[in-house]
Amino acid sequence: MVRSRFATGRPFFLAHAATFGCNSKCQTCSYWKLTPRMKEDLSTEEAFALLDEAYAAGMRGYYLFGGEPLVRKDVGELIDYAQRKGFLTVINTNGSLLGAKAPRLKGLDFAFVSLDYFNDYHDVIRGRRGSFQEVVHGIDRLHEETDAKVGLVTTISRLNLDAMEPMARFARERGVSISFNSVEPTLDFGLTDSERSPNFSLGLSPDQLREFYRTLLRLKREGYPLLETEYVLEDFVAGRPWKCEFPKMFVYVSPDRQIYSCDYRYGYDLRHGSFEEYFSSPQFAEHVQRSESCNRCVRTCVRGYSYAYELRIANLLRLLDDGRTLFAQTRRGGSPAARDVRLPPPARESPKVGAA
Ligand code: SF4
Ligand code: SF4
Repeated sequence: MVRSRFATGRPFFLAHAATFGCNSKCQTCSYWKLTPRMKEDLSTEEAFALLDEAYAAGMRGYYLFGGEPLVRKDVGELIDYAQRKGFLTVINTNGSLLGAKAPRLKGLDFAFVSLDYFNDYHDVIRGRRGSFQEVVHGIDRLHEETDAKVGLVTTISRLNLDAMEPMARFARERGVSISFNSVEPTLDFGLTDSERSPNFSLGLSPDQLREFYRTLLRLKREGYPLLETEYVLEDFVAGRPWKCEFPKMFVYVSPDRQIYSCDYRYGYDLRHGSFEEYFSSPQFAEHVQRSESCNRCVRTCVRGYSYAYELRIANLLRLLDDGRTLFAQTRRGGSPAARDVRLPPPARESPKVGAA
């Protein structure tokens, strides 16, 4: 990151959407509609080649997501290959297959696991029966089988506005960290407007969004294991403008090997080119320039990454402090008390959903 910040201005994290497929049908996402396009996913050998090229271009982080990356049969091989090359390995998963695949994820450093509610109502949001229990079991299995750290990711929409504090408590009790996002449109690689899910109608109103940030700041100050720093949350609450550094940190590559920007528009065809050519291209320069005044993301992580990239001292001090606290709270497997935690009773009606 320091080399990017002071010398190259180029991304050091390969964010690889490894598959178009997903085994859930979230109400807040339209990506699952692309599952038929899984046939366009890179083969194992092609994904290895992508990792080789990314490493040669200076990248040292491999962020694996999708769709749902664990639906790929070779996900363990990809992670092992990346780890052997020297990448930090991170996965973003809906957790449904973690229990089955945990033994194959030994090379994983960090797992972001999506969980949108603290009981079976999560299944309703996800459109997959049993997924709450799958996530709980999957995290336990990951802790048993690997040294990976786990962070929950909760996406807040109008469906689960009441989940923030209970989810923060749930994370603390299970000995894992947590990050919160607000739902935003998921654009979708060529789907027409009429095919887009109505996800943004479930988005928060401006007032709800302000309350969302205020609640996060309060939870942080109360000592819950939030990944967002207090410094970042204070700026959200105050509505301060900021400069997005994201394109200098992460490069997104689609399942069919094309580079795309954060608005899901293809920017460069890596099938007939190289990272080197892209990073020297006008498209990349334009993307970087556009991002600096974008301010569009409501996602706390993007602002957090940007502040870390800028090496803001006040934020770094908070990060150090958080690191110590989170390390203590998120030791492998959680505390014994966390393992015994009793789940709260369902707060809503039993889900009536079909398994995806
Ligand atoms: S949010 Fe994730 S799990 Fe849900 S449909 Fe989209 S890609 Fe699948
Ligand atoms: S703030 Fe804008 S440029 Fe930065 S990641 Fe978000 S959408 Fe992209």
